Amino acid sequence: MRDASPETPQATASPAIDAHGLVKRYGALEAVAGIDLEVPRGMIYAILGPNGAGKTTLMRLLATLARPDEGTAQVMGHDLATDPDGVRGSIAMTGQFASLDEDLTGRENLIFLARLWGFGRQAARQRADELFAAFELTEARNRQVKDYSGGMRRRLDIAASLIVTPGVLFLDEPTTGLDPTARLRVWKMIRQLAQSGVTVLLTTQYLEEADQLAERIAVIDRGAKIAEGTSRELKAATGSGFLHVTLSDPKRIDAAAELLEARLDSPVQRAPEGARLSVMAKTPEAANAAIAALVAEGLALEDFAMGSPSLEEVFFALTGGAPSAEPEDAESDAAAHTGTDGDAGSAGDARSDADSDLRTDTRSGSGTSSGSAPSSNLTSSANVDADTTPSPDSPQKART
Ligand code: ATP
Repeated sequence: MRDASPETPQATASPAIDAHGLVKRYGALEAVAGIDLEVPRGMIYAILGPNGAGKTTLMRLLATLARPDEGTAQVMGHDLATDPDGVRGSIAMTGQFASLDEDLTGRENLIFLARLWGFGRQAARQRADELFAAFELTEARNRQVKDYSGGMRRRLDIAASLIVTPGVLFLDEPTTGLDPTARLRVWKMIRQLAQSGVTVLLTTQYLEEADQLAERIAVIDRGAKIAEGTSRELKAATGSGFLHVTLSDPKRIDAAAELLEARLDSPVQRAPEGARLSVMAKTPEAANAAIAALVAEGLALEDFAMGSPSLEEVFFALTGGAPSAEPEDAESDAAAHTGTDGDAGSAGDARSDADSDLRTDTRSGSGTSSGSAPSSNLTSSANVDADTTPSPDSPQKART
């Protein structure tokens, strides 16, 4: 098994990711503005932030797809600046949309990738079938990828990045655009991967995803890390005094929000549906007075409670903005995503080509030493291993 294996002696020596002061500028914009990150091995770690916060850029830096302007980082003990091949040999990356050949079947795609990785004909078929079984896609394996639903496609994309088991799997918004069922399936896969020892760094805009999956969460906004901890720690740090009220008459929600904001001197958050408001109250007395004021104004309450904030409220309190809404519908959304968002390293990346030389580096780098790594793999599902030829007999941690 390669050095990327989470179980090698080296594996216990250092964190999976150890980054200090990472900065990435695009012109005047600091997409990543001095981020430190330490991710222990085998952990699911979430980078949570709104659109444009710098999540993808941070991941691209750590995956050697973009070069930091400042800062240092080690991934699985390999230095980003001095040993980028070592980094590439330890990671796999799945972007915001899949870059598989639409006209091939799912199985043909995986066999093709496994062959590029150096698997023999029979071993490649076997590995493809193992992954289909692990990702609950066996029934769809002989369908053309263009006929896959968004959820199936996303799972196939993740499977494609696990032909050879990485030390760290980077997942850029793995469930964006998926419906709840498809999302649960992807979560299950991610949990299984982590249980098998793979470190998972995922970006997400969904608080629930971070809450459900990640042992630790870094909240980033405008390129900077503004909080970090377990979901529980983040909630505790925001304060436990949240007043939640539900109005009897939803039409009066604006008046109630205005009153609460003025009384408690804190921004009021509205639930996406219904007449529920949440606001931080510094003391129970302040909360009581605010409730009394609502009632005095004739704003009757159906329900009220004091309690800890949800992760959503934490996010709001930290970033000063509402988190993005949950995706509405899914599979079609995912298709709409394809080709519009910038997949990390996608050849079709519509963004500035500031890193294009690096991308070229990366591709050739991933194919050099073993001569078997697919040159396009880093740009699609980005599974790279420059140091060793994968053995079909290697125990595959992705298996369920
Ligand atoms: P999203 O959730 O929308 O994917 P994000 O948190 O991943 O957002 P990034 O994609 O990292 O955010 O972008 C951070 C900022 O950097 C944005 O303002 C973006 O427009 C800018 N940016 C990212 N890549 C480039 C590039 N190659 N050239 C110029 N600007 C870029």
